Amino acid sequence: MLITGKISIYIHIPFCEKKCPYCQFYSVYPKKDLIEKYKKALILEIRSKQKLFFKRDIVSIYFGGGTPSIVDFSFIDDVLNEFNINNNTEITIETNPENVTVKKFEGFKKANINRVSIGAQSLDDNLLKVLNRSHSSTDVKKAIDNIKKAKIDNISIDLMYDIPHQLINSFEDTLDQLKYLDITHVSLYNLTFEENTFFHKNKDKYLPYLPKEKDSLKMLNKAISKLKNLGFLRYEISAFSKKGCNSKHNLGYWQQREFLGFGVSSFSYFNQTRHKNISNIKIYIKNILENKNIVDFEERLSYPKNIIELLLVNLRVIDGVNIKNFQKNNGKIPSNIIKYLDNSIFIKKENNRYKLSKKGLMFYDSLASDII
Ligand code: SF4
Repeated sequence: MLITGKISIYIHIPFCEKKCPYCQFYSVYPKKDLIEKYKKALILEIRSKQKLFFKRDIVSIYFGGGTPSIVDFSFIDDVLNEFNINNNTEITIETNPENVTVKKFEGFKKANINRVSIGAQSLDDNLLKVLNRSHSSTDVKKAIDNIKKAKIDNISIDLMYDIPHQLINSFEDTLDQLKYLDITHVSLYNLTFEENTFFHKNKDKYLPYLPKEKDSLKMLNKAISKLKNLGFLRYEISAFSKKGCNSKHNLGYWQQREFLGFGVSSFSYFNQTRHKNISNIKIYIKNILENKNIVDFEERLSYPKNIIELLLVNLRVIDGVNIKNFQKNNGKIPSNIIKYLDNSIFIKKENNRYKLSKKGLMFYDSLASDII
């Protein structure tokens, strides 16, 4: 059976020169022969699932990692040739600032990449050292220049706050430098100490230097107002964009568009089921070649957990949720949850939509734990 409708694609490229102390994504060192073997396995996986996406409208393709820009033009081109893309397909590649040359990105542009997401994290060179990053703030500026020279205009950067040793002034300085960057989108994250990361293993050493909660809130508020002044509209809790430059791919995650993930450790959401591929590149390649299972886990949430999770993810978007339409498309929201939303300080009601209030935008995690 051929399936139709909109879909997104995620491709995991698991190569990094070194591991950042806060990062929990799966990555390995980029050896040349391993990259070649991985490409072959990845394409075999894509072909094996062709009937799931062949007739569908591919809204977006996202090369995430790892550091996808480590691979060359032909890798990206060969992978993209497996999909029916159209003029509206948003095709993003993530890069680190130090990997960007005009030639490389001209190649990516030729392969149909039309959006780049740069892992800048900060424009404070001292904090970049705390994060053990290999780039400087000057590299970020050069990277943007080179991507523009390669004629790719849709450029996003990742920025972080709550970095150990970060001061409000330093964060403000990073925000002030944004006006000199020709970018269309900012993803703003607070650093958290995730399990199995260097920071988590050494948290006793770093925790005393984390910004206090009140300073963290101040940083968030400064970011919101400065980004607004620069013309970036907040369209999701952590995403800000210039007009018309919302990330189609990320909006899909927040609005339950199906997506297929390919590659080692990638996630998929398909047919109301989530699954994750195994997180070991050697086993992934071997199992693909031997036609064996590559799924690590699969889960299909039952009612009402599925509806509640979906609602929570939908609420992350600033436009909020039209409850009537939501229930028509997804099923009935339990009455105790509706009652909670009607009375919560984290929620406001506007034109039949439930939206995060000012407090809800600041304390989304509290709302989530109340509801779940
Ligand atoms: S470069 Fe990105 S994916 Fe690689 S270790 Fe650092 S944060 Fe993780």
